[in-house]
Amino acid sequence: MEITFIVDSNAGKLARWLRMMGYDTLFFKDIEDGRLVDMAMKEGRVVVTRDTQIAKRRVAANGSLRVILTRDDDPREQLLRVMKELSLDCQQMQFTRCLECNRRLVSRSKEEVKDLVPPYVFRTQVQYMQCPSCSRVYWQGTHWQRMKSALEEITAASSGHA
Ligand SMILES: [Zn+2]
Repeated sequence: MEITFIVDSNAGKLARWLRMMGYDTLFFKDIEDGRLVDMAMKEGRVVVTRDTQIAKRRVAANGSLRVILTRDDDPREQLLRVMKELSLDCQQMQFTRCLECNRRLVSRSKEEVKDLVPPYVFRTQVQYMQCPSCSRVYWQGTHWQRMKSALEEITAASSGHA
């Protein structure tokens, strides 16, 4: 079964990384602990939080709720911890999900995005993905490449070769 997440409001950047890897990741800027836990239980999501109170809850202690506690401020360290703990695969589903709203991206032809991307991008890029919810268009430009190499660094560290 595919692992899904709910990231606590104290670890927002991590949510974007998990989405970048293609994992279904909920994130709320402001959510009560109780609601977060309920939602995670109902949908079978792993909770990632910096809040030790959540990790101490009975449901977490008895194993019915999976909680990963990250003590680090650095989102890369947080991601590393989550990847190690769950042996996440960051290759298979990379860039299949919207970083902003978590929806699965749909692939688009050049013609379909012609009016949605800058002319320079249109001239140089062939593959496009679009979010059906917020309409944001993704392509493999420099930002994408930067995120990809950062992810590769983290992956190398997670498998112990860095
Ligand atoms: Zn979106």
